[in-house]
Amino acid sequence: MDASLNRRSFLGSVAVVAAAGNAFGQAQKSPGLTPAPPPAPPAPTGPFTLPPLPYPPDALEPSIDAETMRIHHGKHHAAYVNNLNAALAPLIAGGLTVDPDIDVFITKISTLPADKQTAVRNNGGGHANHSLFWKLLAPKGKGGEPSKDLVAAIDRDLGGMDKFKEAIEKAGAARFGSGWSWLIVTPEKKLAIVSTPNQDSPLMGDAQMEKNAATGTPILGIDVWEHAYYLKYQNRRPDYLKAIWDVVNWNEVSSRYAKAMQK
Ligand code: MN
Repeated sequence: MDASLNRRSFLGSVAVVAAAGNAFGQAQKSPGLTPAPPPAPPAPTGPFTLPPLPYPPDALEPSIDAETMRIHHGKHHAAYVNNLNAALAPLIAGGLTVDPDIDVFITKISTLPADKQTAVRNNGGGHANHSLFWKLLAPKGKGGEPSKDLVAAIDRDLGGMDKFKEAIEKAGAARFGSGWSWLIVTPEKKLAIVSTPNQDSPLMGDAQMEKNAATGTPILGIDVWEHAYYLKYQNRRPDYLKAIWDVVNWNEVSSRYAKAMQK
């Protein structure tokens, strides 16, 4: 136990004794003897914030259940944002300027102090990946179809829509532990399917990701962390990967493809 924990549990005991009041269980009446609740430490409020879900939590049922969406967005994504802000707070206090666009910011992790890079990669990646993921999904029947240009590129680079789906499902199923399966536009303007561990993003660049992770612009990403599917699918990750096709926002994927090709 470290010193701060000892101190906290000591203060906690004092508070319990004080709150218990007198021997008859009555609260202390004198305001002078009532301890004020300790002020909560201020949570860092920026520079990054949790974006709202673009649809209600039950909008993706039955592919993704409402409870999973509530926890995934309201707890997991929120924690990435809070932890990222907390990791950056001392650096910002020391004069660091942070690019407010998380997709830009995560390309610069290697410029941060070495002891902060892992926390920022994990939580900054988590914030970037989830902010993108919510937009890449849409209620069944509302996501449109892949554009003609995207279909042509999938035919050319990935052997057609069926093979593409099979390959991205396989990359997600084969990812050991936690990570993501991606459709990216490579720097050579080709489509490719890649998988990253943890919260690494293809945007981060080779220097900031695990060895052999591919770099590019993600236009579709599928979260294969257990928190994304376990309540409904338990160990059946491949079933989750099949069901997600019903809620892909092809309008968004197609628009991201067009933008990536213009870069
Ligand atoms: Mn997730």
